[in-house]
Amino acid sequence: MDLAQIVSLSKRRGFVFPSSEIYGGLGSCWDYGPLGSQLKMNVKKIWWNAMTRRSDICGLDAAILMAPMVWKASGHIDGFSDPLVDCKNCQTRFRADNTESYLQHKKCPQCGSTQLSEPRNFNLMFKTHMGPVEDSGSAVYLRPETAQGIFVNFLNCQVTTRMKVPFGIAQIGKSFRNEITPGNFIFRTREFEQMEMQYFVKPGSDQKYYEEWKNTRLNFYHKFGIKKENLRFHPHGPTELAHYAKAAVDVQYLFPMGWSELEGVHNRGDFDLTQHMKFSGKSLEYFDEAAKEKFIPYVIETAVGCDRLILAFLCDAYHEEKLDEAGEVRVVLRLHPELAPVKAAILPLSKKPELQEIAEKLRSDLSEVVECAYDESASIGKRYRRQDEIGTPYCVTIDFDTLQDQAVTLRHRDTMKQERISLVSLAERLPMLLKNF
Ligand code: ATP
Repeated sequence: MDLAQIVSLSKRRGFVFPSSEIYGGLGSCWDYGPLGSQLKMNVKKIWWNAMTRRSDICGLDAAILMAPMVWKASGHIDGFSDPLVDCKNCQTRFRADNTESYLQHKKCPQCGSTQLSEPRNFNLMFKTHMGPVEDSGSAVYLRPETAQGIFVNFLNCQVTTRMKVPFGIAQIGKSFRNEITPGNFIFRTREFEQMEMQYFVKPGSDQKYYEEWKNTRLNFYHKFGIKKENLRFHPHGPTELAHYAKAAVDVQYLFPMGWSELEGVHNRGDFDLTQHMKFSGKSLEYFDEAAKEKFIPYVIETAVGCDRLILAFLCDAYHEEKLDEAGEVRVVLRLHPELAPVKAAILPLSKKPELQEIAEKLRSDLSEVVECAYDESASIGKRYRRQDEIGTPYCVTIDFDTLQDQAVTLRHRDTMKQERISLVSLAERLPMLLKNF
């Protein structure tokens, strides 16, 4: 399977479209279509629930625009940059720190020329202006990560929830980075959505929670169906560690272009809270009532890109299956039922009004419970294929026997097995069927 198959399916079926397509698109920007927006909603939901339904984690939704001093304190204004090199021969611009031909032979990755500029640092933050006057005093930044919204709200959350350390704050939201080399579809874009959780712990217990969160995050991916052999840890060596990190590991996924970071789990120590105390002049110390002592908590962070995770789920779920000796192939997305944008498709066998009436009533009843689709065009086989391709776990067919026996045919996406099931019991049984899928 290659990425082109996922891009093509996404476009054809309405998962992801190029942004501003009728104007020729905009570099590395993508729009989630009818099915993609629902899939994205489901991905956020499983992450959000996995985090905030724990008694030790609360949620937050901070603003994208923040006081510019936040980025001074976090180190982004001074340090959030990539070293860029220009090829004088073919004008290609590339990153000096992750381009193999440059690192090994100081050569352009495009044309092999050695006529290259010195690396220059390029800040990845998008800058804009707040208010009517565009001077340096009105400059603000689109956040390059959601984490800082959590750090500056650490005490607000702690005081209002009365949670005790260790506890976490989870957030989902857009981040922006003026990436030099975006690409690989929704893997690396300039506007993307992050799902981050910062877990505040007592110094000294950080290593234990770091290990715990590594495993918790891996188990999350297993639970939602990502194949174990497609996931691995990549611990950061001393040269890879970010300035703020005490320890860091990437959860990597085997994307079509190779093993790449899906999520980062970091032990950030007390770097962020200490910096914000220094720059804001406000105390962010935690008071431990029981021990009657004050301390600055350490932070264990888990950070995953929602878009990157969607790509991993799509790649992992995508299967092409040979159906017969004649070579008929079906494309099936074996998405976990909680992720599937449509849970059940209602398919009247023909356009006869008596079947349509039952089918429409069933669609309306089931839609109270789960996301449903209705399709009455083309042959039943073709309609099954359409649903397989978007990962719909169940198809429900209403045929002429239904008029006599008040039963319908329930077809299972993965096994293609069919069973007869009573019409009236379906709304009640469907959630259980999805649960046990
Ligand atoms: P990379 O090394 O791929 O640039 P990073 O180490 O800078 O990523 P973090 O700052 O740790 O990434 O961000 C956490 C997560 O956010 C990443 O694991 C990734 O899933 C996601 N992410 C980061 N940058 C992008 C991007 N440009 N497009 C899509 N997702 C991104």
